[in-house]
Amino acid sequence: MSRALLRRAAAAVLAVTRPGACALACVLALALAVPAQAEWLSRTVDGTMGTRIVVELWSEDRAAGERAIDAVMAKMRHIDTNMSTYKPDSEISRVNAHAAEGPVKIDAELFGLLETALEYSRITEGAFDITYASVGFMYDFRAHHRPTEQQIDAALPAVNYHHVLLDRATHTVRFSQPGVRIDLGGIAKGFAVDCGIEILQKRGIKHALVSAGGDSRIIGDRFGKPWIVGIRHPDRKDEVIARLPLVDTAISTSGDYERYYDENGVRYHHIIDPRTGHSASAVRSATVLAPTATRTDGLSKTAFVLGAEEAIRIYEQLGDVDAIIVKPDGKVLYTKGLEPPPPPPANH
Ligand code: ADP
Ligand code: MG
Repeated sequence: MSRALLRRAAAAVLAVTRPGACALACVLALALAVPAQAEWLSRTVDGTMGTRIVVELWSEDRAAGERAIDAVMAKMRHIDTNMSTYKPDSEISRVNAHAAEGPVKIDAELFGLLETALEYSRITEGAFDITYASVGFMYDFRAHHRPTEQQIDAALPAVNYHHVLLDRATHTVRFSQPGVRIDLGGIAKGFAVDCGIEILQKRGIKHALVSAGGDSRIIGDRFGKPWIVGIRHPDRKDEVIARLPLVDTAISTSGDYERYYDENGVRYHHIIDPRTGHSASAVRSATVLAPTATRTDGLSKTAFVLGAEEAIRIYEQLGDVDAIIVKPDGKVLYTKGLEPPPPPPANH
């Protein structure tokens, strides 16, 4: 019996019981009503795709809801296995090892995501570029290691998304020159979140949140109210700069505080400017809202490379994208769709 039916059954027990039997009926009703709260199911898993995966959903049937979460987690593991450059056997590692020698056949999912990644390079005027990895692989932020200027200069010509050649007819990818490497760390989590949401929607789930690190997507509302998502302060982890009430949207935040180290007053962090091979530091954080998490992930790096104003110009042209960007001086910029209302006029 579903939890909702159990709840109705408990109400029926109360309605037909004589006063003398009330205590028993009340206990029974409570016992049946409490698990009904658990219809909001939530699971957090650390480690897949090198981050924290969270799935939260409303299900009429607890077992079906748990199975749906299992399916989402399995999909995330599959994407990780296929698309992680940290795994030497992954499909993407095979591409990096052989695509400069000739065409490498890849599966439809990876092919589709590479096409999408190139589309975001065009949209962001080159700020998003999966070939950043041609230089990016020499950074190790945990070990406080970065390439020398000579190493960057030598590798930089390989950073250019035009070097990635896709052939739809044969489902192959080829690099136009040696030294090119690609990495989907800037879009695979958003894609995985969208895959998770699609799995839930196919199972009839109408209220859910799926998130992978800084990339999240929400369907429906929560207890009849919007979901509240906070954007953290770039320097103060426990402080939020804004709380956004959200329904049916995706949201990604990129920040220079995610993977970094500081040395001699310079922050070296994980978003790389494809033009220079150095960390892209035009802003401190960028939060992007759009219909899908692939889109928000593909767009959330733009402002770091091009600057807040240029990124906002690109987002506003797209029409379905909003953003909140924190500049190095702490100033916060919004796209027009999110601008807070002006303060009321002073009463003098
Ligand atoms: P998260 O990995 O927490 O989702 P982001 O969405 O901000 O963080 O993506 C940062 C990641 O994107 C980096 O760790 C790296 O893998 C990748 N990346 C870095 N620079 C670029 C770039 N210019 N274009 C595309 N991807 C990038
Ligand atoms: Mg991301």
